[in-house]
Amino acid sequence: MQLFPRGVILPFQKGKTLMRGVEEMPAPCAVRLPVAMAQAESPIAHLAEDTPLATGQELCRQGDLPIRSPISGTLEGSVVINHALFGDLLCADIQPDGEAEERLPIVPEEELTPESILNIAREAAVYDELDGSPLWQKLQQWKLPQSGRANDCILVADATENDIYGSSAWAVLMEQPRLVLFGLQAAAKALGMSRYHIATLLPRHRRRVLKRAIGRENVYTVEDEYPVTQFADDKLTVYRIGVQACLALGRALKQGICHTSAIVTVAGDGVPAARNIRVPFGTDLSAVLSACQAETDVRLVLGDAMTGTTCPDLHTPLMPGITTVLAMKHQPIRVPKPCIGCGRCAEVCHARLLPYEIVRRLENMHYERLQHLSPADCDGCSACSYVCPAGRDVAADVLKAGEAKGMYLTWGEDDNE
Ligand code: SF4
Ligand code: SF4
Repeated sequence: MQLFPRGVILPFQKGKTLMRGVEEMPAPCAVRLPVAMAQAESPIAHLAEDTPLATGQELCRQGDLPIRSPISGTLEGSVVINHALFGDLLCADIQPDGEAEERLPIVPEEELTPESILNIAREAAVYDELDGSPLWQKLQQWKLPQSGRANDCILVADATENDIYGSSAWAVLMEQPRLVLFGLQAAAKALGMSRYHIATLLPRHRRRVLKRAIGRENVYTVEDEYPVTQFADDKLTVYRIGVQACLALGRALKQGICHTSAIVTVAGDGVPAARNIRVPFGTDLSAVLSACQAETDVRLVLGDAMTGTTCPDLHTPLMPGITTVLAMKHQPIRVPKPCIGCGRCAEVCHARLLPYEIVRRLENMHYERLQHLSPADCDGCSACSYVCPAGRDVAADVLKAGEAKGMYLTWGEDDNE
């Protein structure tokens, strides 16, 4: 491990996944696609059991956004599942059958307008894998209020993948670089931005291949340290979307294909070989693990090693926003010891916080002045926990302090400070 003034270099475990293309799930599996919270009225009640469905067929709408069937098959009805992260969810239960696919009408490229691009992003149900939110909603919120700001802003497709195991963004980029760029350009057009590029941390020879494919002006190389904080040159306001979202938008615009699957890195010491695999939304992760020959007694982590969440139930459906799934056989258990005041957590904090001091005040209930240490600026990157020689989960405590703001951080506020 190498320390930097801000950030930390991680030991990449991406390995051979980088050399392999994107694989398909070997056989279509049944999916349980979340359509609403369990308490809500079923939005698919109008569909009879045994309704045949095509891939991409609209099941219902969540507000303006269509929810589309990720596979071709038969609707068996609805089931309530207890999702480890989202609680009780009502899901459409779809059994695979056939290869029917529904596509959107294609608008000729020269007729695409910002409005029509947004409409297609919505109708194709494109999700941004960076946070699992609908791309259309994001772009609408970001639309530049005045064209005068356009030169100060840049839209970035984030292919940095600087966490430990994930390589799905790199795999997508190596496989379909032009379509990713096309989707990015369209998203920039929808926003009224003239600047855009793909930010990446690819190994040098892969970067060369990428630059040859899409032009060096479209590729930006980020610093090799975790977490990445600079996605473009200084002074530009960066708006970030995922490369899978760019690809999905490109496919919707050029081919009318709806966004019904994610490319997921399956890795960890519980699988014989890490791989990137295309998985329909709603697929049971236990099926994904078994397709990757994972061992049965593994711990499932949704997300990558630094910020992922342990998921106690292997029978969890894949949702948009998950691009790394770890099957961990050995999970290092750290026994936290008292803070030794080494300051390493502060050294690596890109938000320039004093994590040890925030935690100290939290533990000692010295809530006064805690807000002046800005714990709410913490984004949970976990670099501080990673470097802590005392084995403390510093990030969790800083996040707790940040989230608790409304509850007690103003207790005993000192006006003299
Ligand atoms: S988790 Fe928060 S406190 Fe820790 S290094 Fe990241 S931003 Fe800083
Ligand atoms: S890195 Fe850990 S031991 Fe060092 S100051 Fe921070 S919390 Fe304390």
